[in-house]
Amino acid sequence: MKLYPLFADLQGRRVLVVGGGPVAERKVKSLLSSGAQVIVGSPTLTDPLQNHAQQREIVHLNGCFEPHWLDAMWLVIAATEDRDLNQRIAALATERRLLINVVDDPVLSTFQVPSIVDRAPLTIAISSAGHAPVLARRVRERIESLFDHSIGSLVSLAARYRPSIRKARPDLRQRREFYDWLLDGPVSAALRQQQPKQAEHLLEAALSQPLKSPQGRVVLVGAGPGDPGLLTLNALRALNEADIILHDRLVSPAILDLARRDAVQIEVGKRPGENHDHTQARIHALMLSHASQGQFVARVKGGDAFVFGRGGEELEFLREHNVPYEVVPGVTAALACAAYAGVPLTHRDYAQSVRLATAHCREDTLPDELASMLSENQTLAFYMAVGQLEWLEQTLIRHGKPGDTPFAIIENGTRPEQRVLHGNLLGMAISAREHQIVSPAMVLIGKVAALAPKLEWFGTSAAARVADETDLLHEPESRSEADSFIACA
Ligand code: SAH
Repeated sequence: MKLYPLFADLQGRRVLVVGGGPVAERKVKSLLSSGAQVIVGSPTLTDPLQNHAQQREIVHLNGCFEPHWLDAMWLVIAATEDRDLNQRIAALATERRLLINVVDDPVLSTFQVPSIVDRAPLTIAISSAGHAPVLARRVRERIESLFDHSIGSLVSLAARYRPSIRKARPDLRQRREFYDWLLDGPVSAALRQQQPKQAEHLLEAALSQPLKSPQGRVVLVGAGPGDPGLLTLNALRALNEADIILHDRLVSPAILDLARRDAVQIEVGKRPGENHDHTQARIHALMLSHASQGQFVARVKGGDAFVFGRGGEELEFLREHNVPYEVVPGVTAALACAAYAGVPLTHRDYAQSVRLATAHCREDTLPDELASMLSENQTLAFYMAVGQLEWLEQTLIRHGKPGDTPFAIIENGTRPEQRVLHGNLLGMAISAREHQIVSPAMVLIGKVAALAPKLEWFGTSAAARVADETDLLHEPESRSEADSFIACA
C-alpha cells in the first residue's frame, strides 16, 4: 500500500490553505464542511473566499507566504500556481513534520485528498495514490451509482438505534442478520421513498418481535431501450440487489450483464404460440411465488413499465396479494429513439404535442383516436407497428393525413445496430419492406421526422458524414444514397 488511508477529525483544528484562487476555494469548502478552523494565506481572494472572510468563517492572512504561517497548524494545503513557492512551502512544512498536500502535485505532497462518495455519515474515499486520477474518478462514478443517497439516512438511523439493536439482538449472528435486513429490506426501501417515519416505525416493529425471515418484495424496473447508459441509477441498484430477475425479451444482454452475479435470471417474454394472457398469468405467478419466499424480485421491462408495458396490471396483482413493491421509471422507446435519430419530438415551428400510440388496436375502436391524430402539428409515435405499417399508412391517409407527411422508423434504437429509415407517409410500408425493417422499431410520423437527416449523430452514417466533411476532396453528393437510410451499422 503506497499511501496509508486515514479519516482525520479536523473539528476545530487549524488548517492552513496557501492560495486564494478557485482551487483553494474548493479545498476551503470541504475543509469547512468538516468543521476545520481554516486559515487562508494569499494576497488576493476569490469573491466567495472574501465572503467567508467577511463572515468570519475563515481567517485571512493578507500577503505573500511567510514561514511563521505554519505555526500551530495541523495540516497544510498549498494551492498556489507557483511551483517554486509550493516547493518551498512543502519543504518548510515537511521540516516541521506537518502533513502537506500540494494540489495536483503528488511528488511534493505528504498527504493526498481522495475522491469521495459522500453519503454522510458514510463517506467512501478512493485514491489511486496519484497514479491514475481518471481511473479513480471512474471508480467513484461506479460507486456513486451503487448507493442511493438515502444510505446516509439509513446509517444515521442505525447509529441512533444501535443500543436498542444490541439489546434486542444480543447474539452476534442474529444481529448481523438484522443489519442485513435493515440494509436490504423495507426500512431501506422506505427511506428511499422519502418516508423516514415509516422507516423508523418498521425498524421499531421489527425490533419488538423475534427475527422473522425477510419480507419479499418486487421492484418494477424500466430498463430503457437497450443502451445500458440510459439506465437510471435506481435501475442499476435494483439490478445489483435483486435475488431474482424476471425480464422481457426486449431487455438487452448488456443490461442483464450488470445484474448481481448470483442473481437468478428468468426470461418471461411471450413464448411461441403462447397467448398474452397466459404469459401475463405466468409472470404474476412467478413474482408471487418468489416474493412469498422472501426474495427481492426485479421485474425488468424494456423502456418504461407504464408505457405499453402492462406494468399497471402487474402492480394491481401485487397489491391484491399484499406484496410490497416500488417502481423505477425508464426511458421509453419513443423518447430514446427520437433522441438517437435526431428527431425533436416537439419543435417550436413543427410540433406542439406528441402522442404515444400503439398500432396494435382495432380500427372499430379508433375513429376518435384517428381523428385526433390528424393535426399537422402533432408528432405521432407508434409502438409495435412493424407488422402494421401498411394498415397504418393506409388508415391515416384514408382519414385525411397528407401523404407527404414525413416519417422516421428507428429500428433497434440506441443499440449498436440501430437503423433509421425516413421518407413520406405515402410509400412508408413499401420502403420498410424493401429495407426489411424488423421489430423492435419505433415509427415517428410528423413534420419533425424530416429533421432526422439533418440532426443525425448516432451510427455509422453519421460518422461517415463527419469524415466526409473533413475530406475536402470528397463531393458531398457522393455519399447521398438513392434510398432513404440515413444511419445504419
Ligand atoms: N415499455 C416499452 C414498450 C414496450 S412495447 C417502452 O416504454 O419503450 C414494444 C415496442 O416498443 C416495440 O414494438 C417497439 O415499437 C418499441 N421499442 C422498444 N425498444 C425499442 C428499441 N430499442 N428501438 C425501437 N423501438 C423499440
